[in-house]
Amino acid sequence: IPLVGNLIGKDHVNYVLMYNMLTGIRIGVSRCQAKIKRPLTDDDFKARHKFSFDIVGNELTPSTTYDFKFKDYAPWVFRTLREDHFHLDPADYLLSLTSKYILSELGSPGKSGSFFYFSRDYRFIIKTIRKEEATFLRKVLKRYYEHVSTNPHTLISRFYGLHRVKLPRGKKIHFVIMNNLFPPHRDIHETYDLKGSTVGRYYPEEKLEKNPRAVLKDMNWIKRGKALELGPEKRALLTEQMRRDKEFLKEINVMDYSLLVGIHEMRRGNSEGLRSETLKVFSPELPLPRRATHGGKMQSRSPEAAAMRRAMRASDPKKLGKGKGTIKLPEKDVGDKQREGFIFYQDEGGLRATDEANEPIGGPEREDEAGTIYYLGIIDILTPYNVAKKVEHFWKGLKDDRHKISPVPSVEYADRFFSFMKAIMRGGGGGESFVQEKDKE
Ligand code: ATP
Ligand code: CA
Ligand code: CA
Repeated sequence: IPLVGNLIGKDHVNYVLMYNMLTGIRIGVSRCQAKIKRPLTDDDFKARHKFSFDIVGNELTPSTTYDFKFKDYAPWVFRTLREDHFHLDPADYLLSLTSKYILSELGSPGKSGSFFYFSRDYRFIIKTIRKEEATFLRKVLKRYYEHVSTNPHTLISRFYGLHRVKLPRGKKIHFVIMNNLFPPHRDIHETYDLKGSTVGRYYPEEKLEKNPRAVLKDMNWIKRGKALELGPEKRALLTEQMRRDKEFLKEINVMDYSLLVGIHEMRRGNSEGLRSETLKVFSPELPLPRRATHGGKMQSRSPEAAAMRRAMRASDPKKLGKGKGTIKLPEKDVGDKQREGFIFYQDEGGLRATDEANEPIGGPEREDEAGTIYYLGIIDILTPYNVAKKVEHFWKGLKDDRHKISPVPSVEYADRFFSFMKAIMRGGGGGESFVQEKDKE
């Protein structure tokens, strides 16, 4: 079962867009990266840098196959987030995203029309977003930064970059780069997208056979009587972090976000080939960053920048041999700095189920027999409760219970989200009790 659909060849509708996005990241981000780190200022949160790319190239930009413009938003803020808060190695980040290959697109899994792309090592996701979402992220970036700084274990999506590509005919595409919650080395056997809303939150299970990787929703979770099996220790940590995160989401006045839950059953392992062995890829030849010049003279560069340039050159598809359009994902945990030292990603990049004595269920010596790892995070947080959502709330509220539908004001959304998450942890009464409580209200 292939994880992703299409090989992104030159004839693919999004080939040029991907080339532009990756070239922009490679050149834009490595420019900021080559400078000496400094503390953030207020202006950094509003900053944006423009780059123009064309066949000719100029002092700042190398020659490219296509003409386009690239905008890098708040580069210093994202650099600081990546390095100081999300534990990413700068060279590693750029190389994962822009060298060798990138995995092909996940199509458009949501209703919003966004596209998702994986980095070649499956660690990063590029998501195209609407202009309003980009504007909103810039507006709350300071608050986001503060929340992440004071909550190193936050479950909220990690944003590593915000960019825009402008095509010659004027079409603008905004996109973010974020963490893939799911690890490269483990099959995810069940995926749930949970909101705490019960109306229209059911995936017809008869379709599962055809589409085993389908994302299930709240009502599937409730009907299956599922629970997050966590002992008192992990339960307390998770509850407290979720409480803080939902307070933050309330404050920035958003709704419609979800808790994404990926479940790996150790008993089943990777035997079902859910992450296909070989993934199709996009492997363009991207231009190298320009060496910094000053008045025509070559400038000396930091050793890191030089090493990065060498690594990029070495990973050029021309040198790797063309036609190798496949990639193998690892079978074992190969380590990932963005997960190291984070409570909720501590067990093989996720959170292992535990019993009432806080011992792993299944036990380490019985890894192949039993045990569950959860991969958790709060995603899709860029939708403010605005006029459009108020209208949707009104109309949906005529047909269904005003408190159970997905569009509700951000305060109500956050509190309902949080009570649902508490209910579905072991000992929390379960999803069914959550529905009964809501019925009483
Ligand atoms: P909509 O607004 O219609 O809900 P969207 O286009 O905004 O959709 P998301 O809700 O962000 O999309 O994500 C859609 C799906 O993509 C999720 O249910 C999940 O399966 C997958 N996904 C999104 N973000 C991540 C992530 N960080 N890690 C792993 N999978 C993700
Ligand atoms: Ca969503
Ligand atoms: Ca969305």
